[in-house]
Amino acid sequence: MKKSIISFVLTIVILLGLLGATTPIKAEAASATKNIVIVIDPGHGGTGERNLGAQYNGFSEKEMTMQVANAMKEELEKYDNVSVYLTRTTDTFISLEDRAVTAQNLNADFMFSIHFNASLEHDFYGSEIWTSAFGSFYKKGAEFGQIMSDELGNLGLYQKGVKTKIGKTGKDYYGIIRQSVARDIPCVIIEHAYLDHGYDLPFLNTAGFLKTLGVTDATAVAKYFKLTSKTTGADYSNYSFKTVSIPKTRLSQDFTEPDYCKVSCVSYDSNSRNALIEMSTKDSQSPVIYFSYSYDGGKTYSILQMWDRTKETQSFNVNIPKGVVSPTIICRAYNNYELYKESEPVLVTGYTN
Ligand SMILES: [Zn+2]
Repeated sequence: MKKSIISFVLTIVILLGLLGATTPIKAEAASATKNIVIVIDPGHGGTGERNLGAQYNGFSEKEMTMQVANAMKEELEKYDNVSVYLTRTTDTFISLEDRAVTAQNLNADFMFSIHFNASLEHDFYGSEIWTSAFGSFYKKGAEFGQIMSDELGNLGLYQKGVKTKIGKTGKDYYGIIRQSVARDIPCVIIEHAYLDHGYDLPFLNTAGFLKTLGVTDATAVAKYFKLTSKTTGADYSNYSFKTVSIPKTRLSQDFTEPDYCKVSCVSYDSNSRNALIEMSTKDSQSPVIYFSYSYDGGKTYSILQMWDRTKETQSFNVNIPKGVVSPTIICRAYNNYELYKESEPVLVTGYTN
């Protein structure tokens, strides 16, 4: 009896000893932070027109993406437990598939494709972020994209938002996203600014701005992955961001213009030659982000103005130059997929030439 009690106690002691020996190892394993692998993709590269990216106002996209990517890498490497790689380090052509294969071989947690924008009619400005339209790839891209957009917005760049685009084959339209997702790697395209619009040029012409963009991108990544840095003391371990739920079906782009666009002429002031216009618009699928106006019945339009997306109705002055006969206002409301709804024409009441 006594023997069995002694052996029972011994067993407990041995077990406790074993637990004691194993517990610290377990705790260490739990506290060891996983190393995050980040792949940065400097968009474009190489010779031949289609590899240069956008070329406007003395800016070359393929060179700018490299500068931003290098600055982003340098900044990200200040954080703990992160490995950072680029898909290209020289000005050479690399296919989108090969870029994704690089990320796959590195076991990347996320691929960030760095770009600058331009539009056919040179009318759009600001930043936009493209993400996959599918499941958890959408969720990750949309969550990161919102952090990224907020950071770029803090620099003063106008924010067009986080978007998806499906191609004809029913997959993600953009190759780098499609190729990454096919390899189980979340990927976003960061279109920082437009090289062909006067509104973004002052930013791009600011000395050191590309480095600032790289640091900004890195900060967004650090916040998303809740990184800490022994080097700088930055600590985003408690950073919280708005979570996005995994969509049940793929999230197609918005193919339709805003629901409506209505204008009225409130008053006309003959001293300032200003017509006070009230405009109402709404898009139930996407935010309305720009508007433009015409005072000559649609012959000419203003440059795109920023629409306060928190409001459905806004008022603004339209200056009518001398010599316009029967000034007639038409407004256009643009959603962030650049589709617009045009208002009915409205005569400026009380106008005398
Ligand atoms: Zn590009």
